[in-house]
Amino acid sequence: MAGNDSSDRKSKACTIILPVFNEAEVVEKTVRTISGVFAAAGVKPEILLVDDGSRDGTWDRVCGLHESEAKVKGVRFSRNFGKESAIAAGLENAGGDCVIIMDSDLQHPPETALEMFMLWRDGGYDIIEGVKISRQRESMALKICAGLFYQFLRSLAAIDLRNASDFKLLDRAVVDIIRQMPERQTFFRAMTGWTGMKTSTVFFEVQLRAGGVTKWSPLALFKLAIDSISAYSSIPLHLVTFAGFGFFLFAVILAIQTLYMKISGMAVEGFTTVILLLLVIGAILMISLGIIGIYIAKIYNEVKFRPRYIVAETFTETETETETETETETDAGADG
Ligand code: UDP
Ligand code: MG
Repeated sequence: MAGNDSSDRKSKACTIILPVFNEAEVVEKTVRTISGVFAAAGVKPEILLVDDGSRDGTWDRVCGLHESEAKVKGVRFSRNFGKESAIAAGLENAGGDCVIIMDSDLQHPPETALEMFMLWRDGGYDIIEGVKISRQRESMALKICAGLFYQFLRSLAAIDLRNASDFKLLDRAVVDIIRQMPERQTFFRAMTGWTGMKTSTVFFEVQLRAGGVTKWSPLALFKLAIDSISAYSSIPLHLVTFAGFGFFLFAVILAIQTLYMKISGMAVEGFTTVILLLLVIGAILMISLGIIGIYIAKIYNEVKFRPRYIVAETFTETETETETETETETDAGADG
């Protein structure tokens, strides 16, 4: 695999993908901090900002960026398509031999990103996963929900993502594999592990947001949870079948009992049982239909085969040094 030879990675370029959604407050600071940290190690990355339909002037800030220590590029979506789509667009437009995906609010420390880059360059890994040390900065309710969700995912899809994050470094080989995956609804966090490529991990402490507020509403998180479970497991569908069998068995026993009562002339009361049965079976049926509905909706969305996002505008920082420009061109030539 391309990733095994680390000696030819010394001169290779790195693209940092930053999905941004209403991050006007922090985007400049983030880009400055990241390029500063990389410059200190003598690395000049390409920073690719994917504006996920911001409405707060984020794009103007992106277009105003001039970093001498990094090459800044921007892609603007026509509307908010979600972080998964923003990451997909990032992978699609990244030019580097490795890409690092990180949040644009400095919650993922740039020093860790640099550590990932060094590990990729010298260690020959294809994937480097950022693993959260703790979730202590999150609210109790979020922690409980996240715990339940990961427990579900672990038992239903055999994927352990408890401390996983979207903070990752991917080798070009992995980027190309992911770009070839045809599904429209993606769950990036689990996709990299699925490829089975040579992986290493780097631990990091989730930092406080550099500014602004979280862009995830509880509803959006719930949707993400449902989406990812249904994307990686069909066990909920089989549970419906098992529940059906369970109830059938129960029904047979109850039917025998009812018939016996009837025959022996003891059948008078029993309305409570009827009501309870109606309620329980009704609820189970509805939940089952709902589960099937989730999968049908997924299939429906996939067969429509719509693009994952629509790009309205792109931005490339005007190069002041012509030297750098030729360098990039040679790079691109070598790639193609
Ligand atoms: N984000 C995005 N589209 C969205 C929501 C979030 O591109 O619809 C970006 C956001 O700008 C940030 C990253 O995804 O760079 C993580 O979002 P956020 O920090 O709000 O989430 P949290 O860290 O609270 O989980
Ligand atoms: Mg954040």
